[in-house]
Amino acid sequence: MLKLENVSKFYYNKGIIASGFTKVNLELKIGEFVAITGESGSGKSTLLNVISGLDSYEEGEMYINGKETSHYSERDFEDYRRKYIANIFQSFNLINSYTVYQNVELVLLLNGYKKHKVKKKILDIIDQVGLTKFKNTKVSKLSGGQKQRVAIARAMVKDTPIIVADEPTGNLDSESAKEVIKILKNVAKGKLVIVVTHNIEQVEEHATRIIKMHDGRIIQNTEVKKIKEEPEIQESEYNNISIFNKYRLGLRNTFNIASKFLLLFAVFFFISSAILAEYASFQMSEAETSDSGYSMAFSDLSENRVLINKKDRTSFTNEEYAKIKALPNIDYVIEDDVFVDTGISMMKDDINLYGDIQELDNFKGNLNFGRMPENEDEIILEINSEQFYVANRINDILNKTFSILKSQGVNAWSNETVKDVTIVGIKTFEDKNNYESTFYISKNVLGELRSDMNKNYSDVKILLNNKYEQYSLEPSDVVPIGKAVVDDEMKYQFKNYKIKNQPLHIYVQNIYYNDELNLTISDTYTKSTFKRLTGLDKYDNNRYKIFINKNDYDSLYNKPSYQSSVYVKDVEKIDDTIVELENLGLNPKKVTDFKVNQGEIYQTIIRIIKVIVTIFLIIVLFFISYLIIKIILKSRNVYYATLRMLGATAKNVRKILDIELFINSTLSYGILLGFIYMIKTNIINLEYISKITEYIGLKEYILMYVILIAMSKLISIKFARKVFKNTAINTYNEEV
Ligand code: ADP
Ligand code: MG
Repeated sequence: MLKLENVSKFYYNKGIIASGFTKVNLELKIGEFVAITGESGSGKSTLLNVISGLDSYEEGEMYINGKETSHYSERDFEDYRRKYIANIFQSFNLINSYTVYQNVELVLLLNGYKKHKVKKKILDIIDQVGLTKFKNTKVSKLSGGQKQRVAIARAMVKDTPIIVADEPTGNLDSESAKEVIKILKNVAKGKLVIVVTHNIEQVEEHATRIIKMHDGRIIQNTEVKKIKEEPEIQESEYNNISIFNKYRLGLRNTFNIASKFLLLFAVFFFISSAILAEYASFQMSEAETSDSGYSMAFSDLSENRVLINKKDRTSFTNEEYAKIKALPNIDYVIEDDVFVDTGISMMKDDINLYGDIQELDNFKGNLNFGRMPENEDEIILEINSEQFYVANRINDILNKTFSILKSQGVNAWSNETVKDVTIVGIKTFEDKNNYESTFYISKNVLGELRSDMNKNYSDVKILLNNKYEQYSLEPSDVVPIGKAVVDDEMKYQFKNYKIKNQPLHIYVQNIYYNDELNLTISDTYTKSTFKRLTGLDKYDNNRYKIFINKNDYDSLYNKPSYQSSVYVKDVEKIDDTIVELENLGLNPKKVTDFKVNQGEIYQTIIRIIKVIVTIFLIIVLFFISYLIIKIILKSRNVYYATLRMLGATAKNVRKILDIELFINSTLSYGILLGFIYMIKTNIINLEYISKITEYIGLKEYILMYVILIAMSKLISIKFARKVFKNTAINTYNEEV
């Protein structure tokens, strides 16, 4: 049934050709018990491997049942092995983490047998090799002789016509060796058993044929006992492993080696938490940068605020306000935009009050102290009732005159006075979270304040003698309209010091409007003429200033409201609202557009670097984990090489590993999610983690799981490919 004709096996190793065996001729029949002997290195193992289809041959022809095999592919040899061959290896090749029963069962599961149908057969065979007591013992706990018997049981259970045993007694004491040979002899009925041994006496009484090898050649081939008649060959039947049994093996492999399970678990846990954390902290820093930023001109940077002014730069009419308020997404309109971003500060002795500004007409409700204003310099204060001055010093503020301080940009004041006002009425409110005060001020005083603010926010350029300078402009009741009075020192800029009657051009620009004024210099002041020419007392504070008539001054600064603020209800629809405002002939601009973040280019570069670093880190994390898993799986090479020898296909190996990694990664990810849930619900108190998890949504959690599954798949595909890259014996030897 098995015939070798001039078969030779060569090894190619780095350009050197070594001979395994040369020109072997052999014919073996079912029912024979063949003993092969010979010194070490004579080619016995190589011959067995070729006969088993575990290794290829280079020359001659091997026939099985009269069929040639020289053209066989790896796949054909796998089929050949499943049909004809059972191996017993010198080093057992058992799965140490499986029990005796599981080891014997494995070969049947891999060849498509149903679990429940094989139970009796397995127990029978375990009994035949005398291991019933140990059937549920892990192989790692058995002695050498017992392991060899498990290997025999595994070889017997599949019922192949050929059993090949390479030095099955090599590691055993003589007592165990005798028993093993006896078992093999019993098996040999109706099969072809080929045994390699050093010790010919052990097999002499059972062997039907003795073959002696020397230096890769057969030097003796003696049939010591004639077998009566050749029984019919029964090819071993096999199917593909069932899906159910793949899952069974995958599940068994997940947990059977605790250290490996924990390592894989830890790696999956590490990669998923690290990637999620990296992603979340990236998102968090993104969110923080978009929230940050400031503006020199606006303190209220609400997302729903839109600044509006008219395209022709005139002030708004009441009809226009009505139209704006009628738009669908408008929440409310603040007509005097200047006062949205600036509070005012007022002082009297040691008391300093600060608050927002409102028009007196907007005051609603009842006063708790004092009375309503009766002239334009009287104001109402709305204030938290717990505020110190209200709670303790009400008499020091009610009916007292305060100085409104000159504004110097957003929330900054000089100690110069703009206007004196008297607080005649106080309304208090109770609110634990709001300590902001509001001043209700008459329209006329607001006009003065606005004019002061316009001045403070304006860029003023004065063209004198064809040069732009930034002199300070001051109002005077004494200077005639259309004229300017300047410091006498300024005359030195002119030829012959002729400054009188020179033209003076004033140019004012701010975020609301531009304006200009042409004047003529009527006079220059010195210390002695200062009071007469300007109407002011203190000369010292007023050096190098330009005094103009109060009406001219007001024409530059005391403007009606050119700009208003619109607040939208739904920020998502803000762009639609902007289009609607444009259609009304307005210039709308989101206040957030005025936000600056420490230089746009710097920000963009930082962001690009952050994105690159995040992506890079995630990729690095992925591959570190991938490599660690590969290293962990290296310890599994023997297992999968053994599966291959027992009849598993590349697809089976891939699937079984895939299932193991799937179960492990899912378990690990599930526990991570459990952790995150407990942190989110404050069962575990980890503030930072709780904070960053807010930036991970369902989509990200699912994506992370997909990454884990993809990684598992990638690993199992690569791993299976590796296990099947070479001949079975090379794969196995590489790994051991
Ligand atoms: P035995 O089993 O009789 O001790 P082997 O069959 O293992 O002998 O080896 C036969 C010859 O083939 C030896 O010379 C050995 O060095 C060589 N050989 C075996 N395996 C390889 C291999 N993988 N690569 C190169 N030479 C090998
Ligand atoms: Mg050998």
